Amino acid sequence: MEHHDLRGAPPVRVHLRHSARARRMSLRVSRLDGRVTLTLPRGMPLRAAIAFAEERATWIRGHLAEIGAPEIVGWGSVLPVEGRPCTVIAGPRSALRPEAGAIEVSARAASVPGTVAGLVKALARERLTAASDAHAARLGRPYGRITLRDTRSRWGSCTEAGALMYSWRLAMAPPDVLDYVAAHEVAHLAVMDHSARYWAVVRGLCPDYEAHRRWLREHGPELHRPRFSAAVP
Ligand SMILES: [Zn+2]
Repeated sequence: MEHHDLRGAPPVRVHLRHSARARRMSLRVSRLDGRVTLTLPRGMPLRAAIAFAEERATWIRGHLAEIGAPEIVGWGSVLPVEGRPCTVIAGPRSALRPEAGAIEVSARAASVPGTVAGLVKALARERLTAASDAHAARLGRPYGRITLRDTRSRWGSCTEAGALMYSWRLAMAPPDVLDYVAAHEVAHLAVMDHSARYWAVVRGLCPDYEAHRRWLREHGPELHRPRFSAAVP
């Protein structure tokens, strides 16, 4: 996505979103993580959008101050792993220990947030690969490859060519919820749309899917809250 960094301090990144439906420019500051989005109607020149954002820089910074700077994961931070709250503590080696409510980070780790993100990603890859393999085998449809990303608007996707994409933050959700997202994407290997026929395939793979969808709607934003880098959102 295109962006513009506001002049002055503290640094603020404004994400530019083009919309065919928008009639005028509008600014939004996300309460979730302080992300600033400027929506532009089609045909609006970029410099007009940048001027619009700069004129409102004080308003934007005021809103961000009100929300409070999102906390970057560090010693003592609490974040979910497999749906269980875990505290970041020092340990003999870096490891996720959700059963003990702990994320252990070695004192030798170069970066605490970087190490925690790496552990969560590795767990996500292991769990999402196993779940996709199992659902694809049940469905009798092979998939292409799995890509993990830090997506905001969707938990997963499936292309016509059978490539699966997932948010690695799913490793923070309860295991059944992660399993549902894998079933959801693998089911698209059989039916690309979200028709009744499609949901029947999902139900076959994951009978309790409705409860897991609801969990994601209600608790999904909590999985987006932990920040792993100092980059402006
Ligand atoms: Zn879908």
